[in-house]
Amino acid sequence: MSRTLEYAPAPESRAIVDIKPSYGLFVNGEFVDGTGTSFKTVNPATEEVLAEVAEASEADVDNAVRAARRAYDRVWSRMPGAERAKYLYRIARIIQERGRELAVLESIDNGKPIGEARDVDVPTVAAHFFYYAGWADKLKYAGYGTTPLGVAGQVIPWNFPLLMLAWKIAPALACGNTVVLKPAETTPLTALLFAEICQQADLPPGVVNIVTGAGDTGRAIVSHPDVDKVAFTGSTEVGKAIARAVAGSQKRVTLELGGKAANIVFDDAPIDQAVEGIVNGIFFNQGHVCCAGSRLLVQESVADEVMARLKRRMATLRVGDPLDKNTDVGAINSAEQLAKIRELSEVGEAEGAERWSAPCDLPANGYWFAPTVFTGVSQAHRIAREEIFGPVLSVLTFRTPAEAVEKANNTPFGLSAGVWTDKGSRILSMANRLRAGVVWANTFNKFDPTSPFGGYKESGYGREGGRHGLEAYLKGADQ
Ligand code: NAD
Repeated sequence: MSRTLEYAPAPESRAIVDIKPSYGLFVNGEFVDGTGTSFKTVNPATEEVLAEVAEASEADVDNAVRAARRAYDRVWSRMPGAERAKYLYRIARIIQERGRELAVLESIDNGKPIGEARDVDVPTVAAHFFYYAGWADKLKYAGYGTTPLGVAGQVIPWNFPLLMLAWKIAPALACGNTVVLKPAETTPLTALLFAEICQQADLPPGVVNIVTGAGDTGRAIVSHPDVDKVAFTGSTEVGKAIARAVAGSQKRVTLELGGKAANIVFDDAPIDQAVEGIVNGIFFNQGHVCCAGSRLLVQESVADEVMARLKRRMATLRVGDPLDKNTDVGAINSAEQLAKIRELSEVGEAEGAERWSAPCDLPANGYWFAPTVFTGVSQAHRIAREEIFGPVLSVLTFRTPAEAVEKANNTPFGLSAGVWTDKGSRILSMANRLRAGVVWANTFNKFDPTSPFGGYKESGYGREGGRHGLEAYLKGADQ
């Protein structure tokens, strides 16, 4: 099978971004040196070192929390919602104005295709700030009271660095909280550019503080005694450690964790559309998506046809330079993540599933993994149970809707699911029976700031987005 079309390179210029050789921490409205060591962030598509970034120590985190507390007590919690909204609108507009710069930087630091950073990440980030700006002066109508919690400690992962920042910061600020946020250690650069945007928007010092670092810095934030609210997005393993660390304290917690979503294709589904949805479900953002449709459940009577069309479609995916506007699948975010994807794929083969990878030339440098599909997967296989967090799809079959539900729910996770069918009644009955926070019907991986997102079971608790997303940052209607 070969590609149907060859494209000339169409690289986006990186001249628009100004990456500094080193970065400090953003505390109390200013960039300051850290008191700890530093680490390097690399371009995963080339392994080029992009910058040296401060690793915030406990003392640095303490400074950031103090700055956030002062800003909360003296300015932000006292400011009328309509005034807070003006800052959020201003931030949203600057994000739009600097959208190309943010998209290019996100693509360079993360490895995601520029087309996705430009058309999905950045517009959704701006939309999130616009949306929560609209709530800031209407909190009394939301049903969760109007009293903020105080200082929020927020820790995010590397797969959607700027979008996860927006999901955390926009509702927190709209409700009157101040924040200390830590981006992931492999993707700190857009959060630091966001810090510049806060300066440009004249946000009062201390309302947003960005501290960079790895697990120890994250631990220092979530266990800091003056942090009132912990918001974490990341792996289930670290989420459990955080839940244990804050147990018994007064801190409020929301956890957005891993997933192993079932994407369910019935025999009456429009097959070509479903194939597009399967591809989008698992290969969007290299499969580094918590809600990725990583388990395809396909009705037995159409399984052969779906697989044939899926492989044909996968063979047309262009894997390579993330800054090329034609690229569909970019680089794996880090050497560690690549090792994990390789290991689980080898386990899949060893356990007897059949592996097929799209034919493609992978670049010599950087971290790459060809889009891959496993057939003959059983529910006992590790590739059917564990989150791979890469461009790897496990295919299972079913005969009846009841069997589809049973297999879909047979997972410790419960973040998302997809249903492909021509019947509206079947969509509704499946949505009722699937234990997943989000169920997409005849589409997949659609995000909108007005729509709540979150999990069941080991996918975490709490919701982000929509009116529901305000609940995590307010004391409650009876307070
Ligand atoms: P991770 O859990 O390893 O790291 C997430 C963040 O936590 C990073 O900033 C990291 O530095 C920090 N951290 C690590 N140890 C910590 C500790 N003990 N205390 C506090 N902070 C700590 O996850 P990752 O590899 O960066 O991201 C991938 C995971 O994130 C996947 O499991 C994915 O499903 C999940 N995710 C979930 C959602 C969602 O909304 N449910 C969204 C995106 C990603």
